[in-house]
Amino acid sequence: MQLEALIFDCDGTLAETEEAHRAAFNALFREHDLDWHWSIETYTDLLKITGGKERIRHFLRHYAPSKADYYIDNDHLIPPMHVRKTAIYMELVKTGEVPLRPGVERLILEARAAGMRLAIATTTNIDPLSALFEGTLGRDALTWFEAVAAGDMVPNKKPAGDVYELVLKELNLQGPQCMAFEDTTNGILSARAANIPVLITVSEYSAGQDFQGALAVIDNLGEPDAPFKALSGYAHKPTHVDLELVKKWHAAGSNG
Ligand SMILES: [Mg+2]
Repeated sequence: MQLEALIFDCDGTLAETEEAHRAAFNALFREHDLDWHWSIETYTDLLKITGGKERIRHFLRHYAPSKADYYIDNDHLIPPMHVRKTAIYMELVKTGEVPLRPGVERLILEARAAGMRLAIATTTNIDPLSALFEGTLGRDALTWFEAVAAGDMVPNKKPAGDVYELVLKELNLQGPQCMAFEDTTNGILSARAANIPVLITVSEYSAGQDFQGALAVIDNLGEPDAPFKALSGYAHKPTHVDLELVKKWHAAGSNG
């Protein structure tokens, strides 16, 4: 089956956004004069919980920081805190503080020039996504993507397949006609639930996860002068992932 569309996850795949999310949470806590601080280790654990508000609640219950009881008893304080955290995060990414990962811009531009259809499937809301583009590819870049399924548009977040099913519906394509770009186990499960082959670029926070079910697992998309490393699923020695290589992987995956 011919490859018709590339579908990208956002956090961890387009950019290493998790460090900016973590920085935004910590800035929020400072603004509230709280001595709470999320280390990389803590945040790795908290990422198992989907959703920022849910993460704060989980932190209060399981890490018992100062004033936890007060915030548990006053749960209405948490949603506005999360709104403020999102604003801090958006300021960070809008200013270009968070670059796209290696090869992402190159591949998107190549695919776009070749007339390949593009889409996004993410659990992030649309505003932070568009802020990321504003700080990287430019304000209009979101319009390059024919289907953008984000945040709460679907009832069930990844690892459920809903977000990919919605993209397929909007593109009017079948799963095997697409390639998904993801960085986590949950991403693989979500794309595979919609019968879409998956390429994994391992991110800072997904190293060590189970990538079974992916067509290939690499450290990033690579650049001609900064080759990617294959962690599994590929025997050749190209330097970077271009459209031709994506098509090869796709053909191998859909014939196999
Ligand atoms: Mg991700």
